[in-house]
Amino acid sequence: MRWLIDGHLDLAWNALSWGRDITLDLDRLNRDEVGMTDHPSRGRATTTLPEMRRAGIVVCQATLLARVKPEARRPEGHARNSLDFANQEIASAAARGQLAYYELLERRGLLQMIRTSSDLDTHWERFTTGSHDEPIGYILAMEGADPIVEPSQAVEWWNLGLRSVNLAHYGKSRYAVGTGDDGALSREGVQLLKEFEQLGMILDATHLSDTSFYQALDIFHGPVLASHNNCRALVPDGRQFGVATPTAQSTTSSTAIDCGFFASICRHESTTLARAPRTRNRTS
Ligand SMILES: [Zn+2]
Repeated sequence: MRWLIDGHLDLAWNALSWGRDITLDLDRLNRDEVGMTDHPSRGRATTTLPEMRRAGIVVCQATLLARVKPEARRPEGHARNSLDFANQEIASAAARGQLAYYELLERRGLLQMIRTSSDLDTHWERFTTGSHDEPIGYILAMEGADPIVEPSQAVEWWNLGLRSVNLAHYGKSRYAVGTGDDGALSREGVQLLKEFEQLGMILDATHLSDTSFYQALDIFHGPVLASHNNCRALVPDGRQFGVATPTAQSTTSSTAIDCGFFASICRHESTTLARAPRTRNRTS
């Protein structure tokens, strides 16, 4: 068996918002959705805990996923699987609910939160050398930082086990600008990165727009990873890292630099990546 770390899974969102019991076999879960018409993704769930175990996943980054989009006012109202909430307090409470689900799966012995590097070492050793029936480890991650209601609340989330945060998801957020738009970090976004540095929180650069991405790398000196994106040379899409900005182009046109922008330091097979090297020349 080749043991793996999965860099990004929205397990709790699937359970709480899609009504998917992720403790079931995948075939059973998808069979249960046959005939459901609310979304084209019904019957096409991609993973569950038993499926992860079969694949040799020892650890995953498991997300909390809730964002603030008060402008999202659909005539038909919000679907239960909507990610969009009216304000940060509501998004924060929704994310706490997702965390509560992970905690209940821990109580059943199906998941184990990884909070420290020694937790990771111990878990990896036990899982890979034992009978392989240990709980799957999870590093608590947040996709889009809106549930952190203000920078000073980051410590509360840290104490709850949060270790990795994307500042934004799609479009503008309180802290940064994400996929599909472009713009700088907000003043609060800069403050939040300072809090992350103090805590040791990992910045997940996925979904940051070009301007927010490079600004974050310039001012943040903590650990950085990119959990689920590629480079535009391979996947021509705004969500991927590219050399679209004039400042970035001043450094190099080498695809190799783009693709290798983040160097892996994780000791295990993983998409968990290291601090980005300063390969870009500053022009301003
Ligand atoms: Zn994403």
